[in-house]
Amino acid sequence: MGQLIVTSEILDDLTSVARRFVSDIQVEAVPSIQDRCKAIGLPEDNPFLCGKTVQDLQSDRHLVLLAERITPEMQASVISAMESHAKMPRESIASLTDPHVFVKHLLLHEVAHAIGHDWSEEECDRWAFQQLHIA
Ligand SMILES: [Zn+2]
Repeated sequence: MGQLIVTSEILDDLTSVARRFVSDIQVEAVPSIQDRCKAIGLPEDNPFLCGKTVQDLQSDRHLVLLAERITPEMQASVISAMESHAKMPRESIASLTDPHVFVKHLLLHEVAHAIGHDWSEEECDRWAFQQLHIA
């Protein structure tokens, strides 16, 4: 652990992974998800958020917002939240300490929100882990 992930550098790759599941989905790397949400009138109280999926109500299209810079601290807080809440296999959670796996799982988690509108966070995590092994 301990590697900064700069999502803007791998945005094309992440977008093509996302489009395997949702053909017209967009992925954007933003300096602050909280600020971006505020700008489009969405309340968001977590300033350290790594990712969020929003839907344009006019076009119905989904947009995945990713933090442009995902720090080791942000990664660690996602992992420890998962350890304390989710009933996920330990080795799955442990695999997220690899930054490449972390960011792919994060993206897939957000894609899960776009696919299953009423899935819980845990269901999105579980689906993302399943796709990680296939993708
Ligand atoms: Zn989520």
